[in-house]
Amino acid sequence: MARYTGPVCKLCRREGTKLFLKGDRCFSKNCALEKRPTPPGQHGLGRKKASAFRIQLREKQKAKRAYGLMEKQFHRYYEMAERMRGATGDNMLVLIERRLDNIVFRMGIGSSRAQARQLVNHGHITVNDKPVNIASYLVKAGDTIAVKETHKDKAFFVELKNSKISNLPKWLKFDTATLSGQVVELPTREDVDLSIADHMIVELYSK
Ligand code: SF4
Repeated sequence: MARYTGPVCKLCRREGTKLFLKGDRCFSKNCALEKRPTPPGQHGLGRKKASAFRIQLREKQKAKRAYGLMEKQFHRYYEMAERMRGATGDNMLVLIERRLDNIVFRMGIGSSRAQARQLVNHGHITVNDKPVNIASYLVKAGDTIAVKETHKDKAFFVELKNSKISNLPKWLKFDTATLSGQVVELPTREDVDLSIADHMIVELYSK
């Protein structure tokens, strides 16, 4: 699956907000956005007319980049959300929040969504005791997510066992001792901790 491989801090500077794409560094004084809170490029600070389209586009790009999705994948969630009951914007973000790579990140197994995706792609993760290497796999309430039994003695996971997980959302459980956790309930729109004006994305796509 295609993914963005360029410099990620540029994306935060472009969107003017922290997208937390670099793990621990995002919380340190080395965060590029804190050092240079201006858009990238020679004309980064140039005057730009904030048209409705531009605001909607930036909102969509922000959400897409925060979750590390390409346009086609992101649009697919919009189409799925449109077919569901309820507000399309809410449904879209909740669907994305249910992706396995996001769950692995939110449980603290990976320090960024990119690292979490790599852990899934490399076959380190199981869902209900079955190996799943599809980052876009949508978890369900009650699913058990764990590090594959035979991989638990790898240095990365041994270190994780000795660490403390902070900011675990209330809809997830994770135990570092057993390296396994559970999706207690499905997330709601309120559980999406990124500041995204989803209605603007819906307005953009429904044109
Ligand atoms: Fe964004 Fe993290 Fe880079 Fe800061 S360190 S600019 S939050 S990716």
